[in-house]
Amino acid sequence: MSHISSDTTWMNIGNCADQHPSMFFPSDGVGVERAKKLCEGCVAQTPCLEYALVNRVEHGVWGGASERQRRRILKARRQARLEETAVEVS
Ligand code: SF4
Repeated sequence: MSHISSDTTWMNIGNCADQHPSMFFPSDGVGVERAKKLCEGCVAQTPCLEYALVNRVEHGVWGGASERQRRRILKARRQARLEETAVEVS
């Protein structure tokens, strides 16, 4: 079961606080890289990424991760949970 996070206070301190939101919803790879560059060193990177992962935000760049990267992270976490469960059962 996923937990829906509503805490978005980190948005006010991120590197993107003064940027237009459209910058983080790019339509091509160049735009993705540009957005990810702005995320580098952002103090809000961890909560930003977790917000997108927990809330299953499918579009845009969050926490320095592209849509594809977030799908991979979620898949790896699912796999890790399955392996944990298998160890507990055995
Ligand atoms: S990690 Fe990127 S998208 Fe998230 S708050 Fe920072 S600059 Fe914005």
